[in-house]
Amino acid sequence: MCSDSDELWPKRYEHSRRRMSERTLLIIKPDCIQRHLTGEIIGRFERKGLKLVAAKFMQISEELSRQLYAVHQNKPFFEGLVKSLSSSPSLVMVWEAEGVIEMARKMMGATFGYDAEPGTIRGDFGCSKGYNLIHGSDSAESAEQEIQLFFKPNETIDYELADGNWLYGKND
Ligand code: UDP
Ligand code: MG
Repeated sequence: MCSDSDELWPKRYEHSRRRMSERTLLIIKPDCIQRHLTGEIIGRFERKGLKLVAAKFMQISEELSRQLYAVHQNKPFFEGLVKSLSSSPSLVMVWEAEGVIEMARKMMGATFGYDAEPGTIRGDFGCSKGYNLIHGSDSAESAEQEIQLFFKPNETIDYELADGNWLYGKND
């Protein structure tokens, strides 16, 4: 017999249970904004089925850039990196999905455009070292810290995607 019984409901709402699934901080960097590639990049994440839960268009201060990239503070490229990130507006976003940190990193590609594989964001749109279009958190710990740097808890929005089950459900 076919009914909306216990067996079907949990599956149908599987995506709801994943509401607090993984989140990552992604930044469309100044070079990407200046090159009019913002829509193209966001479109890739949307088409992948990731969920946007926060966004802020802002000029990141030098101080905040230093905090974001603190792990690189002793590297020779640090000052240039801070200058370029704070030189012009960025779009700072939080995206959510199970496994989103690794998925987004794969979609970004290797750090330098000239190394990045075709099909990735950096591989398709860049060939520079300093300008590589996008930042993405590289671990659960850094994602948590980085999200807190840019967003208060009430600035990320919890909601359901209407097609969540088609995106995240299983077909077996
Ligand atoms: N970067 C640079 N020169 C280098 C290495 C890194 O300008 O030799 C910049 C580049 O913009 C990169 C950022 O520093 O995105 C952070 O470096 P990381 O190694 O964390 O790369 P990512 O995580 O962005 O791939
Ligand atoms: Mg990094």
